[in-house]
Amino acid sequence: MIPKGPMAINIAFSNQKGGVGKTTSSVSLAYELAHVGKKVLLIDLDPQCSATSGVGGSLLPEGADIYDLFLGNVSLSQVITNTSIEGLDLIPSSKDLVSLEIEIGKRAGRELILKTGLALLDRDYDYVLIDCPPSSGLLTLNALGAAHGVVIPLQAEYYALEGISALMNTINFVQGTFNPDLKILGVFLTMYDARTNLSMQVEQEAKSFFGQLMFTSRIPRSIKVSEAPSHGLPIGAYDPVSSGAVAYRALAQELNERCYGASQQSVANG
Ligand code: ADP
Ligand code: MG
Repeated sequence: MIPKGPMAINIAFSNQKGGVGKTTSSVSLAYELAHVGKKVLLIDLDPQCSATSGVGGSLLPEGADIYDLFLGNVSLSQVITNTSIEGLDLIPSSKDLVSLEIEIGKRAGRELILKTGLALLDRDYDYVLIDCPPSSGLLTLNALGAAHGVVIPLQAEYYALEGISALMNTINFVQGTFNPDLKILGVFLTMYDARTNLSMQVEQEAKSFFGQLMFTSRIPRSIKVSEAPSHGLPIGAYDPVSSGAVAYRALAQELNERCYGASQQSVANG
């Protein structure tokens, strides 16, 4: 459990591998948490901008985007937009983020720019969810520098744990340097197919590696989940009774319990 002060709990969705469900999960959980009354800010730190479009958001007009925030040209409130989902705000990504490493790569304190920006957050959020790019570069380091906790999605496929030691090394490095309080909040399986031995094997491996850190909820592989982004909707809004939406709702409840304690009012029941 993360001690809750007046500030939001910041969570980075991280895994150096691409295509494992980071974006789908941050978007889906942002929706589910907002849906039960939490105030949520979703930050899209991937220059591919999929979390931005996944909640029906669009890039900000020129002159005020997250890239400028990193460069220190704009204030945090200038880059926050609301979404059509009640309780969910967004900091959209920017294609310019690809060149950020070059711009700020040599600056002192470069890993803590996002944390410094978020400290000035003047609105009341319960959660800040950060969708990381598939790399361990400066953007991910900034997410880990600003986060209280990391959530790790694992794709229930061959080589799911490949690259995990690199991620653990990155997390250890961050804990040992610029964010000693960073915790791993939990790990869960995405694109799980209960009919295959492979999914079950991966689950066993993940459990023996991560132990108690594993969430019980698993996200099933589902066409509906993969369709939802093309409608600019999180799965919970696109098809609230689909297996994917039900699974993300349960995961949101588990996450809420880990963050705020078991006395937390049930997320599923509102
Ligand atoms: P990442 O952000 O880690 O790169 P994404 O969330 O973008 O991963 O997911 C990669 C691809 O897999 C996307 O096309 C997404 O729609 C699809 N996907 C994610 N979760 C599921 C799921 N549970 N069932 C089916 N497809 C999924
Ligand atoms: Mg992504």
